[in-house]
Amino acid sequence: MADIGEEVKNKQVLFRDYVSGFPKESDFIITTATIRLKLPQASNGVLVKTLFLSCDPFMRMLMKNQSSAFSYSPGSLLFGYGVAKVLESAHSDFNEGDLVWGMLKWEEYSVVEDPGKLVKIHHTDVPLSYYTGILGMPGITAYFGFHEVCSPKKGEYVFVSAASGAVGQLVGQLAKLMGCHVVGSAGSREKIELLKNKFGFDEVLNYKEEHDLDAALKRCFPEGIDIYFENVGGKTLDSVLLNMRPHGRIAVCGMISQYNLDQLEGVHNLMRLVPQRIRMEGFIANDYFHLNANFLEAMLSYIREGKITYVEDTVHGLESGPAALIGLFSGRNIGKQIVSISTE
Ligand code: NAP
Repeated sequence: MADIGEEVKNKQVLFRDYVSGFPKESDFIITTATIRLKLPQASNGVLVKTLFLSCDPFMRMLMKNQSSAFSYSPGSLLFGYGVAKVLESAHSDFNEGDLVWGMLKWEEYSVVEDPGKLVKIHHTDVPLSYYTGILGMPGITAYFGFHEVCSPKKGEYVFVSAASGAVGQLVGQLAKLMGCHVVGSAGSREKIELLKNKFGFDEVLNYKEEHDLDAALKRCFPEGIDIYFENVGGKTLDSVLLNMRPHGRIAVCGMISQYNLDQLEGVHNLMRLVPQRIRMEGFIANDYFHLNANFLEAMLSYIREGKITYVEDTVHGLESGPAALIGLFSGRNIGKQIVSISTE
């Protein structure tokens, strides 16, 4: 462990340039800078040591050349959610030794000049990496996306796509806890096994092995779908629309199948919203961050009581980060994809 004031090497991941199509490892640059472990004199921020970084699909959006302030600049450091330890603080809300999660740069040591949005971690009887997932942004997404946007009722028929991933595995288990009948889709046999044997989905389908998704959904849902938790978009959404029950709800969490396309696929069956009176609603995790305390209380109890289990896919070291991040778009990750940087 380096001492305050010491000058140390600082491995970093830079974003090379805007990406079109599937991102490649060469879209990122691994470099090593040096950093003095001391806050700049006029700083109001915190100096942190990065412990875990999270690979999230939204990061692909930030790689596009779009006129949004919230995107990566060519040559700049990548950033995303992560967990860190405060080494030095000039901010009244934080002290040396605090553990935090929030937006971090992809580097081993970092100065966070605006730490107001970092969330302090108080519960450390669970793995710290969980604050990139089940107890962090993806957990909030699953919890409020399911409970608030889907308005679930006991006994309803629920379909979850990208079901073995960070968000999907939680939605499936939350739906089971509500007493719903839950079907999940994923893209490999290993993931299908996980859904059935670890997360307790009632039925599963491997969308890569189904030539007719509509028929597969009719097989899994002979009475139709009440709730679709949408993670992938494209053809899956079109097939789901043909199988929704009256007054069904579609929570549009994401559409990962579209993120690398320059021309988005159309959706052909939207007309079904009308006769079936379906409510289709998009949402963003950040809308619920202010409810973090309620969320934490519920999710920590589920974890401690063994009611919810969580699978992570961990790579080690910043140099492994780019491959792990782009692997989200080919389904390489099995569970929540994280990058472990340090355990100190
Ligand atoms: P994840 O599921 O852990 O990882 C992504 C998975 O998506 C991959 O493992 C892969 O699994 C699947 N996938 C990739 N390309 C696909 C394609 N073309 N067609 C179908 N499936 C594909 O990711 P996550 O973090 O849980 O995110 C899931 C979704 O939630 C994403 O759409 C993300 O953008 C969204 N999200 C939204 C919010 C929000 O605030 N609204 C917050 C977090 C996440 P398979 O092997 O099964 O293909």
